[in-house]
Amino acid sequence: MDRTANDRTTADLAASTVETITEELRQSHAEGPVAAEPELTDGFNLVIDALKLNGIETIYGVPGIPITDLGRLAQARGMRVVSFRHEQNAGNAAAIAGFLTKKPGICLTVSAPGFLNGLTALANATTNCFPMILISGSSEREIVDLQQGDYEEMDQLAIAKPLCKAAFRVLHACDIGIGVARAIRAAVSGRPGGVYLDLPAKLFSQVMEAEAGEKSLVKVIDPAPAQRPGEEAIQRALDVLKGAQRPLIVLGKGAAYAQADEGVRALVERSGIPYVPMSMAKGLLPDTHPLSAGAARSTALKDSDVVLLVGARLNWLLSHGKGKTWGAPGSKKFIQIDIEPKEMDSNVEIVAPVVGDIGSCVQALLDGMGKDWQKPPAAWLDTLKAKKEANVAKMEQKLRRNVAPMDFHGALGALKTVIKERPDAILVNEGANTLDLARGVIDMYQPRKRLDVGTWGVMGIGMGFAIAAAIETGKPVLAVEGDSAFGFSGMEVETICRYELPVCIVVFNNNGIYRGTDTDPTGRDPGTTVFVKDSRYDRMMEAFGGVGVNATTPDELKRAVDEAMDSGRPTLINAVIDPEAGSESGNIGSLNPQSQLKKKA
Ligand code: ADP
Ligand code: MG
Repeated sequence: MDRTANDRTTADLAASTVETITEELRQSHAEGPVAAEPELTDGFNLVIDALKLNGIETIYGVPGIPITDLGRLAQARGMRVVSFRHEQNAGNAAAIAGFLTKKPGICLTVSAPGFLNGLTALANATTNCFPMILISGSSEREIVDLQQGDYEEMDQLAIAKPLCKAAFRVLHACDIGIGVARAIRAAVSGRPGGVYLDLPAKLFSQVMEAEAGEKSLVKVIDPAPAQRPGEEAIQRALDVLKGAQRPLIVLGKGAAYAQADEGVRALVERSGIPYVPMSMAKGLLPDTHPLSAGAARSTALKDSDVVLLVGARLNWLLSHGKGKTWGAPGSKKFIQIDIEPKEMDSNVEIVAPVVGDIGSCVQALLDGMGKDWQKPPAAWLDTLKAKKEANVAKMEQKLRRNVAPMDFHGALGALKTVIKERPDAILVNEGANTLDLARGVIDMYQPRKRLDVGTWGVMGIGMGFAIAAAIETGKPVLAVEGDSAFGFSGMEVETICRYELPVCIVVFNNNGIYRGTDTDPTGRDPGTTVFVKDSRYDRMMEAFGGVGVNATTPDELKRAVDEAMDSGRPTLINAVIDPEAGSESGNIGSLNPQSQLKKKA
């Protein structure tokens, strides 16, 4: 499909439409007593005006019909427009930009196929409570609705609706201001999520008087208003906490998103309650904090009696709040802080629901704790401390393994040191073993520095997250990628080189998914989970002018990463990992259904 050639046609069409409308407007004015020529604006400009007015300065997307000129114009008018190679990666970038900034990230795509490619990221953003807006151009309503076969015909609004928090379509230029305002408010208020905004091709070239256009814009006031918890709810929560013998706080990525970092830290430290961070909440308090029970997670979940969830859901990642993970049935009382009232009791009974934004809720709890707050019994803290120290010691040994090819622990030991030495770097992480092991091994020291596969455990977020993290924060990014996971977004290394971003990618290359040792029993094809043996992913980066390194030992790996982080040059390190080293499905092998017939055989 030649989108570029088609573009020209559309642009010509658009230009002639503008001329016709302009001429009509001129004539209607000419009939009046004073034939002053009004200044005009159009849909393209109004979309940009509306975004800029609301402080949105960056667009992630892929150009093409009918939004090519929107991107061009946005760039010309000073916005940052980052063009990707595939919409899913642009969408993931927008989603994580939303998580990092609390402003909706914008993803801009063409119609039908581009829209669908962006939709995975939109659904993923909604699932993860990341605010983003997918803006897609679409075909002519009249033709789409009569199903007469337009260019890239698709009823995009209807398709997006069940997959996001809200979906809107704007048909008239004078409604662009309201449309963008609604999209922004829907994305960031309450529980954040993905919003779809459908902009039909015709809208962009619609013309109106500039003054009226400006008046039609809306600057959203207080888009994510504080939601203060009720006094009774706070008292109830404190009463439950006070009665606890073995209390535990679980910090989720909602707490990281809320940017109530001081409050969260004060809650942990003043209450003296140990905490376990969910993956993307790591670093809210440093993983080396004395009250961190991250390294004693199993014991902490199983043996606690009262659990305070802060921006974390009792979904599969927390075994739904029941079962072996949580010890004897009925042994647990849950308190939950969440902005979404419907989240309460979703899996188990919440004895003290605290509905509100995390900043306000945490502050209210702190205020209510008073001066005579009793810290948890020493026995509980000692149990966790002993467990933690034992686990850390066991792990330390594995991390020192200096063998070639590397195993996961040896390679991760080197990267753990990198982040310790550069705590403000952002770590992006995906894969199976590469994810599960890195999460445990690499300590985080600052909030919102660990970005990963989130609620779905989805593969393919890597390069989109890395690019947006570099652009939104200006910090160096270390992307630790399984070789399989990297494949979903690997082409974006070109984007990283094109925008000269300080991204260092480490591909854990074990020749395949989980392991590189699978075979086809019939001998015909490669096994279903293996890749080309001894691939050199580093050369992909070299193809676009970046730095490629092949690392076979932890020392080589550490040296190469340090160099990349110092220089800020786009770098891809092919880390050669033993194909025998991984385990099936990483830590979640229990979710992997296996054939009963195979077991019996
Ligand atoms: P994790 O995977 O880290 O456990 P989840 O995505 O499961 O995190 O949970 C995040 C929770 O945080 C969601 O239920 C969401 O409603 C909530 N949340 C998001 N932002 C806020 C906020 N500002 N205040 C309160 N709760 C929030
Ligand atoms: Mg692999």
